[in-house]
Amino acid sequence: MSGGRRKTFIVPVFIPNQGCPHRCVFCEQEKITAQQQGPVDARRVTRIIETAICSRRFDPAHAEVAFYGGTFTNLNLQVMEELLGSVSPFLKKGIFTGIRVSTRPDSLDPEKLALMKRRGVRTVELGVQSMDDHVLALSGRGHSARDSEKAVGLLKNLGFLVGIQLMPGLPGDSREVFLSTVEKVIGLQPAMARLYPALVIKGTALARMYEKGDYVPLGLAEAVEICAESCRMLEKAGIPVIRMGLMSSPTLLLQGQILAGPWHTAFGFLVRCRMYQEAIASQLPSRGRLEKVSIRVRDRDVPLLRGYRNEGIQWVSMMTGAEVLAVEGDCSLPPGRIEVLET
Ligand code: SF4
Repeated sequence: MSGGRRKTFIVPVFIPNQGCPHRCVFCEQEKITAQQQGPVDARRVTRIIETAICSRRFDPAHAEVAFYGGTFTNLNLQVMEELLGSVSPFLKKGIFTGIRVSTRPDSLDPEKLALMKRRGVRTVELGVQSMDDHVLALSGRGHSARDSEKAVGLLKNLGFLVGIQLMPGLPGDSREVFLSTVEKVIGLQPAMARLYPALVIKGTALARMYEKGDYVPLGLAEAVEICAESCRMLEKAGIPVIRMGLMSSPTLLLQGQILAGPWHTAFGFLVRCRMYQEAIASQLPSRGRLEKVSIRVRDRDVPLLRGYRNEGIQWVSMMTGAEVLAVEGDCSLPPGRIEVLET
């Protein structure tokens, strides 16, 4: 979350592939969410919520229940009533500020949207994935970029906050195509975005395409670079990027489930470190000027400078030719500013 705003504590309730009209080529929600397909009922929702609110980090002033992993607005009306209704007692007691759901851009029905409004849904996250019709067709999405544009307009008019989920690296995608998707998304002005680079998960149509040699996933460095550029563009336009990279789940991490693609347990952190490096590169001394240095950065930037397993320190050494003897936090420095001291 950017801009120092308090992060929303999301209690996820997964409804793997429920309401989906078909499987998109990359999708394997049971493995991603570590949950078997099958109906989620009110009792299960209540149990999940009661467990979550016992967490020490739970903060009712910034908490939402989220129905993820399926096409929420394509569930039948009764099921929607039951699931949303099971959150109502908690909303009435002020234990949550609202509900969010994820869904497809082509599955928005006025009657169901009205029910969601009445039942406290504040945010709708749309699986937009790409704004390129060729990429959408090759990925078996079954909707067009125009559907996404219309969906965002409709949801905003009804007063929902709109989140947009994007997936770089789908079949037919490229760096240029994806950055043009990001530009189009900026034009739609959603309230937030998520970036999930495409992975090849066992059992999916994408896995079959990959095994036949018809699909080449992004490499990790490439995905980090594309997401860093996309995140920079989105956040510059005032659209916070609230997550990058899939969350790890026990089933997804089982050996052999991810066949290929830019998987990393700390993917979002890698992207933030890359963005940080881009921001500070011009403040580093030119290569060979100093032999040993210590670096002062804003306290909260220390992990970003160090990077994943100190890879950031190696990067500074590579850029400057100097040995980094110390990294010190200094709360008086503004974000993205560094001071390099000869040691
Ligand atoms: S609509 Fe979403 S949840 Fe459903 S199959 Fe496609 S990607 Fe998966």
